Amino acid sequence: ISQVIDGKKLAEDVLSQLKTDIEKYVAQTKLTPKLTAVLVGKNAASESYVKIKMKAAKKVGIATETVRCPESVSEDDLLKIIHELNANPKVNGILVQLPVPNHLPERVVCNAVAPEKDVDGFNITNIGRLCLNLKTMVPCTALAVYHIIRHIGVQTLGKSAVVCGRSKNVGMPIALMLHSQGGAKGGGLDATTTICHRFTPQNELAKLTKSADIIVSAAGVPKLIRGDMIKEGAIVIDVGMTRLLDETTNKASFVGDVDFDEVVKIAGYVTPVPGGVGPVTVAMLLKNTFRAAFIQQNPLYINMI
Ligand code: NAD
Repeated sequence: ISQVIDGKKLAEDVLSQLKTDIEKYVAQTKLTPKLTAVLVGKNAASESYVKIKMKAAKKVGIATETVRCPESVSEDDLLKIIHELNANPKVNGILVQLPVPNHLPERVVCNAVAPEKDVDGFNITNIGRLCLNLKTMVPCTALAVYHIIRHIGVQTLGKSAVVCGRSKNVGMPIALMLHSQGGAKGGGLDATTTICHRFTPQNELAKLTKSADIIVSAAGVPKLIRGDMIKEGAIVIDVGMTRLLDETTNKASFVGDVDFDEVVKIAGYVTPVPGGVGPVTVAMLLKNTFRAAFIQQNPLYINMI
């Protein structure tokens, strides 16, 4: 039977350390780190994500602001808002909550955020740096997966890992962290990493996961990972979050990609949904925000981004 990773507890530990670090920083610099979210339109899921992030930020001593734009905002007007935030020295971290409406080009929007304020790590410069194994702002979900694996404490060098999902914001950065060089030369995990996606046949996926030491699923497909697809003792990290809306109560709930009840009997470690990767991801966002503030105050550290 698996050890179930308590993501809430892991996140609380990170946040309490962060709170202490921020208190020290504020006492020394008289500056309060600030995170600004840009929210376009009225997507209920996006509203709730931003709320969760901002609430957590306030708790650790990060000042917050949410800039709201109408669904119909033009590309020029949105870029102007982002450029103003880039130029505002009081703002240390900027996140544009995705998805943006279809008429706005997501890549252009992500690239508009100054790399040193890009706490989501979606700017082309930061992604490029991650690909090159250089210090950068790493996307928060990938950092969360990394943190969880490090917390488990098993050796990952030379182990085999499978990532389900190849999105540029989630699956790909996770695969980059898993496969890349670790130790002094980089922040990677040195695992032999296979990326699966929507065109990977299910039997092929099962063959790959069955021999994997680490499985990270970020597909958004409930019950994609079943008990009979797991090697005994494997680490199974469930990034997937499919939002289900109860039509009678109008309440939202989330399910992951992993058939938890089956997998928990076979895996060595498994993360639940909710209460697994999600809270750790929020904690990583705030760590990135503090890091951004620190770097902006210490130009000598500029090579850290
Ligand atoms: P996305 O829709 O952009 O990408 C989904 C990926 O899954 C695609 O690359 C697709 O090829 C792949 N895929 C689809 N069906 C598959 C299958 N049968 N087998 C293998 N791969 C398959 O979504 P995203 O933005 O990458 O997010 C992925 C999931 O992670 C979503 O459920 C999302 O809600 C969740 N998410 C969670 C967190 C968190 O903090 N826990 C953060 C971001 C995203």
